[in-house]
Amino acid sequence: PGKRKWQSLPLSAYRPDEELLAEIRSRGGEKDVLNLIIVGHVDAGKSTLMGRVLHALGQVSQKEMHKNEKQSKEQGKGSFAYAWVLDEGAEERARGVTMTVAVAHFETPQKRIILLDAPGHKDFVPNMISGASQADATILVVDATPGGFEAGMEGQGGQGGQTKEHAQLARSLGVEQLIVAVNKMDAIEYDQERFTEIQAGLVPFLRQCGFKDSAVRWLPVSGLAGENLTEPPEAKELAAWYRGPHLLAAVDSFQAPVRLVAKPLRLVVAEVFKTRTLGSAAIGGKLEGGVLKQGSKVLVMPAGEVATVKGVERNGEAVTGAAAGDSVDVGLSGIEPNVLFAGSVLCHPDYPVPTATKVEVRLLTLNIVMPLLRGASLVLHAHSAKQPVRISELVSLLDPKSGQVAKAKPRVVTKNQSAVVELVAERSICLEAYTDYRALGRIALRDSGKTVAVGIVTKILET
Ligand code: GDP
Repeated sequence: PGKRKWQSLPLSAYRPDEELLAEIRSRGGEKDVLNLIIVGHVDAGKSTLMGRVLHALGQVSQKEMHKNEKQSKEQGKGSFAYAWVLDEGAEERARGVTMTVAVAHFETPQKRIILLDAPGHKDFVPNMISGASQADATILVVDATPGGFEAGMEGQGGQGGQTKEHAQLARSLGVEQLIVAVNKMDAIEYDQERFTEIQAGLVPFLRQCGFKDSAVRWLPVSGLAGENLTEPPEAKELAAWYRGPHLLAAVDSFQAPVRLVAKPLRLVVAEVFKTRTLGSAAIGGKLEGGVLKQGSKVLVMPAGEVATVKGVERNGEAVTGAAAGDSVDVGLSGIEPNVLFAGSVLCHPDYPVPTATKVEVRLLTLNIVMPLLRGASLVLHAHSAKQPVRISELVSLLDPKSGQVAKAKPRVVTKNQSAVVELVAERSICLEAYTDYRALGRIALRDSGKTVAVGIVTKILET
């Protein structure tokens, strides 16, 4: 108040620069970008499957594949072994948000797919969240072998099954489109009955998570044998009954996310650095809304300082502007680099991102031991930001299926429950209501290094 250097207009008042929009829309020739995550129980075959797809697309050579398989074996299981598919120089090119989570890129006829890292091991759930927080679609890999599917669903040796957990996580973070890849079909002679049985076992659960039947595609595949991945099935047993698309075609038919180009600028900073071309105050990040032009003024939040865009680079090349959906590097002038950090947001000076101190969120708790109580201290993660928060109110428990209030003012929220709670942050954090900007409204709550809940921001209560 008073001392602020910027005004704050309602989002609805924003009128984009039509000329610039037209120019961006006419860029043409470019495919829609789709961020994809692969999830599933450990050993479901995620790495093998993606390695195979990328190899088939010529993204990774046989030699590399062997070398990397060996390496990932030596490093042991747990994380996604296909960090190895990163093509050379990709790290250089894919700065910013993509750098932290992208493991590979590939193209389908209609789309450019960015594969985000989403480790299969339970301890890696946090990584999955930073991946999932930007994911547009998910492939859930399940193991079709006897006992394999069941282990993924129910868990084994005290370890919970990750099939359900991952599907639920993805859905709670707003991912709507899903492919269920029923994998290792080679090991069961491509048995249609088993495929149908697995489908029947998962459908009720996926519905409960809130996946619409029409947004879920079911594919029998074999990562190991390379069946039904990038070509129609060759195995006679499968070709005999399967009539649907192969995996790549199914991925191609995912809907590309809506890019919020006609909304005010939001650029989420993932990284701060300096380069020869962009100067000493450079950032890498993703435009989640609006457009950015060389020479324009931007408001850096939560610092509340105005800077000028000195230069913009996309895929390592200088460009005059960028639009929602693009990952870019941006050089700024008129600002000290020390007010920039991961989690800062560059915005339109008249339409600042809320710097929230109190929010209402809709959560899904994970398989937690300690229930959530009012007053609990947690760490809130959203886009590239994190901040200590306290639960100031348990507003309601929700029926997971209908989303209706099942109980108002509960005393506790226990594991695997859907709830609305209010959070208070000591220091402000850039957040948006999920309905305004999806990427700035997805959150995870962590306690002592473990994720306890994920969800979305429903209301900004105080700034
Ligand atoms: P991740 O933990 O989900 O990444 O699983 P991996 O890709 O590492 O695979 C786990 C194990 O399952 C390995 O021993 C693989 O060889 C095996 N596997 C993966 N895909 C298939 C498949 O399509 N068929 C068969 N029979 N085995 C597979």
